[in-house]
Amino acid sequence: MSMKIDVNFGVCESNGLCVGAAPEVFDLDDDDNLHLLRDTVTPEIEEEVRDAVRQCPRRAISIED
Ligand code: SF4
Repeated sequence: MSMKIDVNFGVCESNGLCVGAAPEVFDLDDDDNLHLLRDTVTPEIEEEVRDAVRQCPRRAISIED
């Protein structure tokens, strides 16, 4: 079973909280644009990604089971 990460880039405010929670998945570039380094959630990183979802103040991140 794999889950997919979806980010609503239109509401992201580039505060980097998700990068802090799951640096293997989320990255901010030099222009403060958020990038997904991967778009599927494997069991090893599931808890980190769920932390990122919880911490995002814009509710921009979702996981599709
Ligand atoms: S935590 Fe949310 S608002 Fe902040 S950079 Fe990540 S997706 Fe964007």
